[in-house]
Amino acid sequence: MIEYEFLKAKYLGNALKILDSYKNVKLLAGGTDILVDIHKKSKRLGDFNYILDISNIEELKYIEETSQTVEIGPLCTHTMLIESELISNMYPFLVTAAKTIGSPQIRNRGTVGGNISNASPAADLVPPLIALKTQLELSSVEGKRFVPLEKYIVGPYKTSQNPNELITKIIIPKIDKEYFGVFLKIGRRRAVNIARLNLAILAKVKQNIIEDIRIVPGSATPYPVRFTNLEQEIIGKRIDQIILEKITPKISEEMISITGERWSTPYKKPALEALFKRGMESIFAVFNN
Ligand SMILES: Cc1cc2nc3c(=O)[nH]c(=O)nc-3n(C[C@H](O)[C@H](O)[C@H](O)COP(=O)(O)OP(=O)(O)OC[C@H]3O[C@@H](n4cnc5c(N)ncnc54)[C@H](O)[C@@H]3O)c2cc1C
Repeated sequence: MIEYEFLKAKYLGNALKILDSYKNVKLLAGGTDILVDIHKKSKRLGDFNYILDISNIEELKYIEETSQTVEIGPLCTHTMLIESELISNMYPFLVTAAKTIGSPQIRNRGTVGGNISNASPAADLVPPLIALKTQLELSSVEGKRFVPLEKYIVGPYKTSQNPNELITKIIIPKIDKEYFGVFLKIGRRRAVNIARLNLAILAKVKQNIIEDIRIVPGSATPYPVRFTNLEQEIIGKRIDQIILEKITPKISEEMISITGERWSTPYKKPALEALFKRGMESIFAVFNN
């Protein structure tokens, strides 16, 4: 049995003080990742003496619009994201991703901050949030710092967060109307389905030219990253000049350049290519009309 002391904070200020004065504290938001890890005695947990329950900190549950960004409190649940008119209007592919997570119970309990901070290669919100160039606000008693999500996750289940910090804000830049995003996921079943592969593509097309594209597969690499070589191949091309059969193998080439050949490559190579082709077809369909 893993032994630990259970602490609870109702206000952010208390949580920051506890994180600063206690050693080896693990945060608990919705608990849908960490409680499973504790139950399984997962090695990922490392040594810890305390669990700090932050789930009741009301000031970390919000979705707000500023002139340049949309800001999400880390304790927003997946359900809050799905039900937000603002998120549905601004980033519909993020809602698509949130809807694929677990089951209604998991979506009601699991939080956006927990999904990010757990840093699973299969986390469904991470690819669309990376494609959106999301920034995180990390707070400690020393103050605040801002880190791009791309730099926050540094390995499978590893982040660059300091032990006395927590995520206090998820900041998504607003995007032009010419952007269109898709999120696709494949797994073993339809519900309670951890991604075998997922993929976020965000493209800006103007007068049939792809001015910008961000391609982020999940579960394809040790942690989700943008496939910048493939992006560069596509940017500046007219959509009617892109031959999908020629371009799709490049996504698996980029995956293998990162991971090398692995036991899962014979499955992931064609599956990722098929997912990418399907994603690009949806984008072309929108801009061809
Ligand atoms: C049955 C089941 C199905 C699932 N299906 C999916 C799925 O389809 N897709 C998917 O992506 N995930 C899935 N998950 C995983 C999980 O539900 C999500 O990752 C969820 O968003 C985690 O959020 P949480 O609040 O429960 O995190 P917690 O378990 O509370 O915390 C997870 C980690 O994040 C840290 N943390 C939490 N909040 C903060 C913060 N504000 N700042 C810093 N660190 C923080 C914790 O210390 C811990 O290390 C599933 C889990 C279960 C049990």
